[in-house]
Amino acid sequence: MSDKGFTLWFTGLSGAGKTTISGLLSSELTARGSKLEILDGDIVRENLSKGLGFSKEDRDTNIRRIAFVADLLSRNGTPVITAAISPYKAIRDEAREMMGDRFIEVYIEASVDACAARDVKGLYAKAFSGEIKEFTGVSDPYEAPENPEVVIHTESEEPAESAAKLITYLEERELIPAAVAS
Ligand code: ADP
Repeated sequence: MSDKGFTLWFTGLSGAGKTTISGLLSSELTARGSKLEILDGDIVRENLSKGLGFSKEDRDTNIRRIAFVADLLSRNGTPVITAAISPYKAIRDEAREMMGDRFIEVYIEASVDACAARDVKGLYAKAFSGEIKEFTGVSDPYEAPENPEVVIHTESEEPAESAAKLITYLEERELIPAAVAS
């Protein structure tokens, strides 16, 4: 099977599960001999988008850069996962427009309360106390997708179940190689 480029465009609140699920998918795709690049929001902000803040303008610039790289890779046959909050619908729609049917929007859904209870990085406590300003879902907007290709409910699923759902979706669209029989 030749490599088929696509972009799994994750969107969801901080702590919703984007990084965790992308890690699980990476292991599974590697086991199947597929390529994959992950553009994780936190990592992109340390290099490609270093210096950008969290104003709407800077958030939009960050997401447009991620879309640009995801488009380059996916159109050359490399599967991509983008794992950034990407809070604004209009910019996600720009990415969709750019990538056409290579773009697969995945809403990684968990409530603010659930993400705050997990508080993986300790950021919600700081957002609620006001130490961090412009925090998505607390003091900054998050526009949930209206018609995502896939919705993943991480409050009611184990990470492995969530990853398995996405693998099934990609298999059904014949975008990834079949699992190796054990
Ligand atoms: P994000 O990358 O969206 O900021 P993380 O992946 O860093 O989020 O953190 C998500 C947290 O939620 C992890 O502690 C993870 O174990 C937990 N979690 C619980 N259920 C799920 C699920 N179904 N999918 C992904 N993460 C989950």
